[in-house]
Amino acid sequence: MVHNSFIKCQVCGSVTRVRLQVGHLCQHPIVITCGKCQTSLSGTAYIGQEIPSLEYEFDNADLLNGMPNADFIVECSGEFPVKKQHKEDADNIIDISPFIRNISRIEGNSSWEEFNEAIARLNTTASKWKSYKKILNLFERKSDFLAQEIKKEFQGSFFTCGSESEILRSVHNIEAIGFYTPLKSNLLDVRKFGHEVLKLNPVQMKALNIFLNSHDGYHLEEIQSQIYKIMDEFINVFPSLIPAISLQYIGEDSFDFENEGSTTSTFDTVKQFYLDTYETLGNLMIIPVALNNIKYRGDIDLSAMVDSKVFTLEEYIKLPKANRYHFCLNNEIYTNFLGAKAKVNVKLRNAIGHDDIKYDPISQLITYFPNPKDRAKGKTEYLLEFESEVVHMFQGILVISEYLYRLRELEMMHNGDISMIMGMSKIINVYDLCPCGSGQKFKFCHWKKQRK
Ligand SMILES: [Zn+2]
Ligand SMILES: [Zn+2]
Repeated sequence: MVHNSFIKCQVCGSVTRVRLQVGHLCQHPIVITCGKCQTSLSGTAYIGQEIPSLEYEFDNADLLNGMPNADFIVECSGEFPVKKQHKEDADNIIDISPFIRNISRIEGNSSWEEFNEAIARLNTTASKWKSYKKILNLFERKSDFLAQEIKKEFQGSFFTCGSESEILRSVHNIEAIGFYTPLKSNLLDVRKFGHEVLKLNPVQMKALNIFLNSHDGYHLEEIQSQIYKIMDEFINVFPSLIPAISLQYIGEDSFDFENEGSTTSTFDTVKQFYLDTYETLGNLMIIPVALNNIKYRGDIDLSAMVDSKVFTLEEYIKLPKANRYHFCLNNEIYTNFLGAKAKVNVKLRNAIGHDDIKYDPISQLITYFPNPKDRAKGKTEYLLEFESEVVHMFQGILVISEYLYRLRELEMMHNGDISMIMGMSKIINVYDLCPCGSGQKFKFCHWKKQRK
């Protein structure tokens, strides 16, 4: 259903027709700017889902009765991209609804049920986030109350807490149901993918854990906390990013960013999340880079040739973030799987850094100046493109979280957790190297010790 309402700007008196696509969310932001005087008229739509109702709240504008003549029209949706604000004229009267427009594009590309399910799951994650976050924080603090609190919230075989490794898995499963399922479901489809990480050369994997745990800011626990912090920020900002998420179902490559945009956000809504996600992903990139080094070159200190040089991990972490992203290679699996390569705009990040940005709320165009000394060379990007980038970067962080989980499992084996080590006999051969990282064959190391 599409509902029309008319609002009058309290500053210049212009009338805007708000054409709202009533969707499945109980409430969502509406970001509108007056087409004449550029005053923000943003507000919120409240939609009764159980008992049908619809209410609005707007800043700096009054709701009008009846069907007055409007100067501007703006389409709004909490879920989809919409046509950007334009002048009201006769052509607008018979336009199809944003729902119809987008559902046909989604069906041509993936499925409406899948998109709907993903958003519903993210809403569930958001509604349970206080409780999830409490558990994640207890885990970070290694609290004695952790198992008790997990049992309060979760039941079943995925959430057993009988040992240290089971607790690690239970906590990790919160991320899996809260974030992977709606945003990176192929992480769950390819369970073998995690096993591939566990099967990488154990001596090198142990060296990687030792490297990380001996460098400030890279300890496995510190990396874990950085991921939780970004998840927390995502939950706060995600209602504004739903149209950007929908692009992955609609198809981004053929999308008309010039004429369609978002009415749930503005540049300022997502700027900080973008900066923090960029920094965090740049920091965490060391893990997929090191995994590639081990898989393809058998040595954590042998990177691929990047910028005509080969880097050790020590050299790698001395690089600025922008250069670290050069290692996000598509032809090596652990970075390719992040899916973030083409989506990291280093120049835009730097321009935000020196606040060299202009944002036009009507066209939703971001103009940025990569080189502050040459302001003639401005570049542009639309808000929805910017938001799509940050969603892709966040999904890259989710992938690294899966790698981190495997590193933490391995850490337990390096510390001699017998049941974890013996559990590996399901996925490795007795003549492979022992997962404990001793460098001996499994058969002559822990496998033999266990048989005695
Ligand atoms: Zn106005
Ligand atoms: Zn061993």
